[in-house]
Amino acid sequence: MLKAIKGGLIINGKGEAPIPDGLILVDGNRIQAVGSRDSLSIPRDAEVVDLGTATLLPGLIDTHVHLVMNAKEDCVTSLAHKSAVESVVEAAANARLALRGGVTTVRDCADVFGVTLTLKRAIDEGHLDGPRILACGLPITTTAGHLHYMGISADSTEEVLKAVRTVVAMGVDWVKVCATGGGLTPDSNVSRAQYSAETLTALVQDAHRLGRKVAAHAHGTEGIMNCAIAGTDSIEHCSWMGEEDGHRYDADAVDLIRKKGLYVSHTITGPRTGSPEELEELLESEYGERFALLRRTMEEGVRMVISSDAGVPDTRFEDFGGGLVIAVKCCGFSPMGAIIAATSRAAEMLGMADRIGSLEPGKSADILAVDGDPLQDIYAIRRIAGVFKDGRRFV
Ligand SMILES: [Zn+2]
Repeated sequence: MLKAIKGGLIINGKGEAPIPDGLILVDGNRIQAVGSRDSLSIPRDAEVVDLGTATLLPGLIDTHVHLVMNAKEDCVTSLAHKSAVESVVEAAANARLALRGGVTTVRDCADVFGVTLTLKRAIDEGHLDGPRILACGLPITTTAGHLHYMGISADSTEEVLKAVRTVVAMGVDWVKVCATGGGLTPDSNVSRAQYSAETLTALVQDAHRLGRKVAAHAHGTEGIMNCAIAGTDSIEHCSWMGEEDGHRYDADAVDLIRKKGLYVSHTITGPRTGSPEELEELLESEYGERFALLRRTMEEGVRMVISSDAGVPDTRFEDFGGGLVIAVKCCGFSPMGAIIAATSRAAEMLGMADRIGSLEPGKSADILAVDGDPLQDIYAIRRIAGVFKDGRRFV
């Protein structure tokens, strides 16, 4: 089945010069050709999808979501009252919302009962609509540690290795470990490390032995350094929270993160109207300093991706584009930089750059069409005109 998708500008996701009057030829689930309308001819048997002047870019990749969470204040407490079946229904509804919001791939960074593994299969087999899922399944944490109510509690190195093997046996794509406490677990101490660098190193080595990459939740600087030493493939949040009040940036940790080529997946949470008032409020809040440190980390050459943490309070699955707006308006990303961070670089972090994350021949036909030019006006990224995943149109 051939499709010819006509649009305006094409932004390929890799930072190359945009192509005006774009045309993408899709053969089944793959991109066959990308170019200007003048440069390509439309095969006679192709179905023509004319999106007018809509900008075409790769489907977005959100590398940090929690599909089982409801994005409301009670996102955590409500989990305790839900069966696995209820959680899979919640996750299925959220997956659909994410896809409608232009997200064609997600990495789910902690679920309950391993339900995202079930959901992933259902989506892959075409029973349900949703983005491609890479699932971390149950998070590994300490007793009383961050997300202990969702995952596997493991304190000693021996217990941690057992936990890695348990989640790999469940079939996870990535291993998620909570290297520091977290805001959703009030008694866990968000500023302090939960594991020593030695224990984290053992975890990373065993996960890699089993062919899995490791995503580490880390807000506190102490824990970020431990992740850098251990070489966790991605460091989530990376908020540089000091052991005492406020922030503590650690240039040595940044050096190590850059040298080892680790990724920082900066989650941009919260309601995102993107109004001038909201942006001003954000920059004046404690996020102001966090964003400034993020910018500093990025300017040091660390490989940065943008993610949402969708599912946590006020962080909706259908508005990942709003996070890109905040990234540009508050965190020092250029519009092109934000698009790269949520497409090709995210794909590279996931080890899937050969399949997704850019508009190029041979890649999966994951395409987002938006009204307007996000390079001129990043808000355009939220004006969704069409979403294709594997060549099939969902919006
Ligand atoms: Zn999270």
